[in-house]
Amino acid sequence: MAAFETVRILSVHHWNDTLFSFTTTREPSFRFESGHFVMIGLPIDGKNVLRAYSIASPSWEEHLEFLSIKVQEGALTKHLQNMKVGDELLVGRKPTGTLVISDLLPAKRLFLFGSGTGLAPFMSIIRDPDTYERFDQVVLVHGVRLVSELAYREYIGQGLLEIEGLGEEIAAKLLYYPTVTREPFMYEGRITTAIETGKMCDDLGIPPLDPLTDRAMICGSPDMLKDTAARLDHLGFEVSAGIGQPGDYVIERAFVDRG
Ligand SMILES: Cc1cc2nc3c(=O)[nH]c(=O)nc-3n(C[C@H](O)[C@H](O)[C@H](O)COP(=O)(O)OP(=O)(O)OC[C@H]3O[C@@H](n4cnc5c(N)ncnc54)[C@H](O)[C@@H]3O)c2cc1C
Repeated sequence: MAAFETVRILSVHHWNDTLFSFTTTREPSFRFESGHFVMIGLPIDGKNVLRAYSIASPSWEEHLEFLSIKVQEGALTKHLQNMKVGDELLVGRKPTGTLVISDLLPAKRLFLFGSGTGLAPFMSIIRDPDTYERFDQVVLVHGVRLVSELAYREYIGQGLLEIEGLGEEIAAKLLYYPTVTREPFMYEGRITTAIETGKMCDDLGIPPLDPLTDRAMICGSPDMLKDTAARLDHLGFEVSAGIGQPGDYVIERAFVDRG
């Protein structure tokens, strides 16, 4: 069997100059766990150019959804950002990854810390009924530089609540904390600062982070991962040792710095 299947673009949404999201068809045989990433790509100049992408849609959804950066000279995204409905895309057959709730020990609250496109896997996790079966409260924290980078902001506030059979539970259990570093906004500053100063929990009116009651997932730039993990370590959280080895928190890179 080929390592990749070909899907078709169903819709494209440009959030701003640097971010877009799109949906594709999904083969019924394509299985993944919410939070997984998969290789996707395009044939460019006779060669398949492939990159890792978190799947933003939940595992029950009939289509696949991705949130993407636009890197102007990026080997893949320079082309990917021009895709139109009906175009073909290669999708790998082996989704995988560390951001799965089965690798978190039982607890009451789940914190999802994402920066930039690190939101993508959490868009899947917050639409998965298992998440709300495992946790009494889910706190989605999205850190960006500009307000226009707060992809899905309105959907998280409204559209999510309209999901049949799940919307009410989401309304009762999900808290959303978008925070912006380079423009005035209702919540400002870096995620690590919001944790360190206690501002995030104060703003949300919830008790401080505590490894006895809380679990976390982190997805962001290499620096964001390092700083946020150090914060959690300092509070006494223990990172999962790897896939299939549950811990207090799990991490995944939102991208690799090739610079
Ligand atoms: C596990 C994993 C999951 C990923 N999931 C996603 C995802 O859901 N959405 C997504 O857009 N990308 C994701 N990426 C990054 C993705 O694989 C590519 O790097 C990205 O699509 C750009 O590809 P490119 O060929 O255009 O540029 P590349 O040559 O891959 O990247 C060029 C430079 O652009 C910067 N860059 C790349 N990706 C990002 C990003 N996402 N945010 C900010 N800066 C970036 C880096 O500085 C990099 O050195 C993921 C990476 C990993 C390892």
